[in-house]
Amino acid sequence: SMEKSAVAAQLSQQFGLESVQPVMNPIGNGHINTTMLLKGDKRAVVVQKLNTDVFPNPEHLVENARAIEQHLTEKANNGEYRLNIIKHLPTLENNYLVNLNDGVWRALEFIGGSYSEDIVDSADKAQAAANAFGLFAKALEDFEARQLHHVIPDFHNLAKRIDTFEQTLAKDSHGRAAKCAAEIVFCQSQFSLADELQTILKSIPLRPCHNDTKINNMLFCSKTNQSKAVIDMDTCMPGYWLFDFGDMVRTFCSPEAEDSLNLDNVIVREEIFSAIVKGYVEPLADTLTEQEKQSFLLGAKVMPFMIGLRFLTDYLDGDNYFAIHRADHNLQRARNQFKLYQDVLAKEPLLTRILAKY
Ligand code: ADP
Ligand code: MG
Ligand code: MG
Repeated sequence: SMEKSAVAAQLSQQFGLESVQPVMNPIGNGHINTTMLLKGDKRAVVVQKLNTDVFPNPEHLVENARAIEQHLTEKANNGEYRLNIIKHLPTLENNYLVNLNDGVWRALEFIGGSYSEDIVDSADKAQAAANAFGLFAKALEDFEARQLHHVIPDFHNLAKRIDTFEQTLAKDSHGRAAKCAAEIVFCQSQFSLADELQTILKSIPLRPCHNDTKINNMLFCSKTNQSKAVIDMDTCMPGYWLFDFGDMVRTFCSPEAEDSLNLDNVIVREEIFSAIVKGYVEPLADTLTEQEKQSFLLGAKVMPFMIGLRFLTDYLDGDNYFAIHRADHNLQRARNQFKLYQDVLAKEPLLTRILAKY
């Protein structure tokens, strides 16, 4: 692998930063790509080494993100989109990807005066973030979803995720099934969720989706704490809004991190759920179909369940996909997400009432 200073020098040269000694340091808390702030004498840009295990085709990822970026820019020029837009920066030779010995890099406009968070600490923040994801969805209403590449095929295909789980369980290559027998039985008891999902998807429109509406993919303004930009277009693909809604519920509602062991506190905070609904539905009010709105609660169930299932699958598989930082980490994550899913089920009548209000 290359020295960091050599990477910085090459990127600085290619992206025209014109600096003798550019400085490159990690920024943010992303889990997929390697994200750095590259500071030259005159300006700073964000550079990202793309994770080619997760994204085997970086060209498609960049084409998707740039198509969306251009659409949002047109909307912004017409006064129909008010958030900052993360623009890709070309190299001096007008390329958007740079191949170095250590991997594939791109550069993005740096949004200064901003910060991102991993856990939502207030209903105001949740509403601001959900509203920004709603404005993003609204601005893409007239963007043809099918023009996007499927950068990760079957990303939210629960039936496929269940198949993969069953195959991995049958192999039990690391002899771990006995250690998570209760979790296996529990998740198998919920597989009808996939049929419910398949039925609902037939009645709602395919949309261009963000597909990673975590709170960490929102930039907040350091001064006002309002949403400044939706970031991380890596998984923008044709999809369904219930997944974007459900992933907000999954990542905003619990006061605990997704690998927290404090399961008693892994709950759906109702005031945060309300804030998500309020923030997200408002910009989409004229656009959402009735069935689509009715599908949101299913999204709130499917997302924690599906990611829990994926954690459990990876645990059985010997931790090949999600990076682990301690023994049984993926099993702990699975338990956490199943707990959150159970709390959505327990609060279903209440959450349904909240959804009906907006
Ligand atoms: P990943 O795909 O690994 O999640 P992200 O694109 O979400 O990577 O970036 C990781 C973090 O880097 C973000 O949560 C944010 O804190 C920071 N970041 C990314 N892009 C920008 C940007 N254009 N301006 C400022 N900060 C950024
Ligand atoms: Mg991210
Ligand atoms: Mg990403």
